[in-house]
Amino acid sequence: MKNIKWTVLAIGVLLLTSCKEKKMDKQETTNPLMVCEFNTPHESIPFDKIENAHYLPAVNKAIEIGKAEIDAIINNKEEANFENTIVALDNAGEQLGLVSGIFFNLLSAENNEEMQMLAQELSPILTAYSNDIMLNTELFKRVKTVYNKKAELNLNPEQAFLLDDTYRGFIRSGALLVGADRDKYRDISTKLGQLSLKFNENSLKEMNGYSKHITKESDLAGLPEFVIEAAAEEAKERGLEGWVITLQYPSYGPFMKYSEVRELREEIYMASATQCNDNSDFNNLGLITEIVNLRLEFAQLFGYKSYADYVLVERMSGSAKTVNDFLADLATASMPKAKEDAKELQEFANENGADFQLMAWDWSFYSEKLKNERYSINDEMVKPYFQLENVEKSILDLAGTLYGITFERNTEIPLYHKDVKAYEVKEADGTYLGLLYLDYFPRATKQSGAWMTSFRSQYKDASGDHRPHVTIVCNFSKPTESKPSLLTFMEVTTFLHEFGHGLHGMLSNCDYKGQAGTSVSRDFVELPSQLMENFAEEKEWLSIIAKHYQTGEAMPEAIIDRIIKSGKFQSGSGSARQLSLGMTDMAWHSITEPFTGNVLEFEKNVMAATSILPKVEETATSPTFGHIFAGGYAAGYYGYKWAEVLDADAFASFKEEGIFNKETAQRFRIEILSRGGSRKEMVSYVAFKGRKPEIDALLERSGLK
Ligand SMILES: [Zn+2]
Repeated sequence: MKNIKWTVLAIGVLLLTSCKEKKMDKQETTNPLMVCEFNTPHESIPFDKIENAHYLPAVNKAIEIGKAEIDAIINNKEEANFENTIVALDNAGEQLGLVSGIFFNLLSAENNEEMQMLAQELSPILTAYSNDIMLNTELFKRVKTVYNKKAELNLNPEQAFLLDDTYRGFIRSGALLVGADRDKYRDISTKLGQLSLKFNENSLKEMNGYSKHITKESDLAGLPEFVIEAAAEEAKERGLEGWVITLQYPSYGPFMKYSEVRELREEIYMASATQCNDNSDFNNLGLITEIVNLRLEFAQLFGYKSYADYVLVERMSGSAKTVNDFLADLATASMPKAKEDAKELQEFANENGADFQLMAWDWSFYSEKLKNERYSINDEMVKPYFQLENVEKSILDLAGTLYGITFERNTEIPLYHKDVKAYEVKEADGTYLGLLYLDYFPRATKQSGAWMTSFRSQYKDASGDHRPHVTIVCNFSKPTESKPSLLTFMEVTTFLHEFGHGLHGMLSNCDYKGQAGTSVSRDFVELPSQLMENFAEEKEWLSIIAKHYQTGEAMPEAIIDRIIKSGKFQSGSGSARQLSLGMTDMAWHSITEPFTGNVLEFEKNVMAATSILPKVEETATSPTFGHIFAGGYAAGYYGYKWAEVLDADAFASFKEEGIFNKETAQRFRIEILSRGGSRKEMVSYVAFKGRKPEIDALLERSGLK
């Protein structure tokens, strides 16, 4: 449930610039995506005026503008310098970044059949545009000219970093390839763009295609009232009697946790764990093979043995070996505890009448019972204290306490769905910082999971500091007829996580677009998000924010204590699960020969080392593992664990200096959040912490030490 997605675009360092004055024809003036300036508060996206038909012409027009901007750089009579080449490149393609950003963000958050088809059409057009730039020899010549005289340019550190990044970006995007290799590069990148989209499209269709209609009351055994009510409303929406369970997390998760009907748990688990698998109309197995083989070919074009090698040389970790060692070390630390968790749960289940070996569809059910027995804590007890509106206010207030910023609802800002809200974010002194959109509930037009992304990036130019428009999209428990949206503790944590990414975007203070906000290494990007998660386990914060939605009473201290104590519950098996995903990702991207085997077999072998339950044939994670096959986390999933070392270590400073300590927060803001990717991540980290990260805080927090 913790994830962040970026638009699946390969426009490299090129994103958004100032809109150039130009003459408009009639079509352009009626297409809201073709005008230079939006007549909306803070130039916010005029979602209410955008129709499907606007995208393609707007993209084509934006490509025209982008090409003209690139031509202007190449044809500049002056010798190439930092401003007329590197900065101009950072600025080129603003309109295209804006339009395609809107399209791909909505493709994840509020799509339709027509948009899915259009995505397949747009993807090769955008890849071609990007390739035309990155493979442009004249342009590269100018970049190289600037790069070669770097020593005499007197650049400040950010400028030097941008220059290095741009130069490397060209090389990693094929600038040095020659002959047939260039065509091959174009071909592979185009196909990869399309396959990723298809992968996501299949996952969404598959998830929406399944529902379990329950008609017998006895099949509801064990379900708390909030689950039953949501299932009844789902049925009603579909014009059915009875109850409906779907594979969307707010429906699926609680069902697996509470249903006493083991056969139903098995049936629904199997539906979920075999999605996009062999017998499905939306089979992703072939796509996986194609994707990993194309990525291998791609890496080999650049002389790397595997795609992981190609990716990781640019990351904090620096190499596949470092990542594999890191995952193996953590597995060594976690597996004894994970196995203990499994053994303990089996014993508990046996004591409670289970005369069978626990299977995957039993884990959640018995874990919930054991947790309840041990800590006297469960969702039903906690949810009434986490009304969504109240949690939202508390999280916004937390940002106020830490960073002095404020959030003001602005109902004039156009929205893409009635459930979305928009806020203006301001500094304590009222200075405008950006826009924040919040989109909470699941719907058939939205991908599963939760993520943060931006409609506009932050950057500075002669006309000033252009502030970002950030969006947070979730799939939280919906309100029902009788109750407002009441969040589980896990949902509160997810909110904090995505909000942490949001702060990274909103507090960005960079000169260049390519470096702003979350434009950092994939194994660093989860630091700001996971750091915020820590607050959920702090009594000092929980006691302020958890208030009963009916009585307004604060959560009893005893419950808070139990929440915190239960935080380490099954930390071994939880860690094993994340490690198994990280290892599966690394395995897929470490192949050095084209893959010709069976996807399920491959995954099974990789996961064997970290699995603690009997393997169920036909189930697999890879067919719906969108992070790595469609979301930019290829050879990057380990980043969650990697960043856990950082966030635990960083939060230890908050704990030592006071979790609401403004100076600590200010240091985190100045050295990490505001810096984006304008310098090496380790430099930012050390500037905050005073030393390099150490793993002790993580092991302690996870109860593994
Ligand atoms: Zn994240």
